[in-house]
Amino acid sequence: MRSNRACAERTTISSPAAGRGWRRTVRSGAVVAGLIALITTATVGGPISSAQAGTGSGYSLAKVKLASGRSVVARWNPCQPAVTYRVNLAGVPRAKRAALRQEVRTAFGKLSAADGITYRYTGTTSFVPRSTNLAEAPAEIVVAAVGNKATDLDLTANMLGYGGISWSTWSSRAGEGAVVTRGFVILSPSGMASTKAGFGRGVTRGNVILHELGHATGLEHVSARSALMNPTVTSSTPNGFGPGDRAGLKKLGRSAGCVPVPAAIRVADLG
Ligand SMILES: [Zn+2]
Repeated sequence: MRSNRACAERTTISSPAAGRGWRRTVRSGAVVAGLIALITTATVGGPISSAQAGTGSGYSLAKVKLASGRSVVARWNPCQPAVTYRVNLAGVPRAKRAALRQEVRTAFGKLSAADGITYRYTGTTSFVPRSTNLAEAPAEIVVAAVGNKATDLDLTANMLGYGGISWSTWSSRAGEGAVVTRGFVILSPSGMASTKAGFGRGVTRGNVILHELGHATGLEHVSARSALMNPTVTSSTPNGFGPGDRAGLKKLGRSAGCVPVPAAIRVADLG
C-alpha cells in the first residue's frame, strides 16, 4: 500500500546560486552575500520549536546560521510586493491538469490568508526544481507535479510530495541577516492520483499541497498528530493548517514584520 508520507525529509539549500560557490563582494568588501555550502538536512518528525504557542499545538521553523554563528528564522520578506509562483503539470494527464492547477491556486490563497504574504500566480512552466538550479527558477516558488526521476531532490517512490526553501545571507559592519529567496514543491503525480480530490480532513490532495507549501514558506515537521506539518498524512490530519501550523505561519509572515534586506544585497523579486 502506498505510504501516506507527505515527505520524509526537507531540503534546505543555502543559496542563491546553490552549488555554484560564488561569493560577491559589495561596497569595498563590507557586504558579502552568497553561497556558503550546499546543506541537505534530513528531518523526520523534527523537534517542536521551543517557541510553542497554543494549547499543546506547536510548530517548528527552519533556521539559518549566520556568519557570526547566530541563527535566525528563515523567512520570506513579507513586505516584498508579491512572492510569485508558477506550476509545472507535465507529469499529470492533460485531463487532470486544470483541476490540480486550481487546487494549487486555492492552496496558495489559504496560505496567504494564514501568513499575510501576497502570492501571485504567473503561469505554467516546464521548469523542474533541482538541488542546483533554484536560482534560475522562473518564479520565486515553483510547484512541479513531475515524476521522481525528473529531479534529484529526494522524492522517493512512496512519497506524496517534497518541499523546501533556499535563502541568501549577508554580513557587514551594519549587521547580518538572511532572507528566503526561492521555494519549491514537488508533487508526486501518482500520489496526487491516489489522494482524495479537493480540500478537507484526512488524506486529501489539498492537505498534501498545503503541507508542502508550508515547507516552501519555512515550516518544518512537528510530531503532533493534530498538525498539518506532521510528516505523515492520515485520516486524523486536520482540514488544512491546524492551530500550531497557523501560529508558526504568523511567526513567518506579515505580522512578524519586514525582513530588513540591505539595499546592497540584490535579492531579485520575480514577476
Ligand atoms: Zn513534510
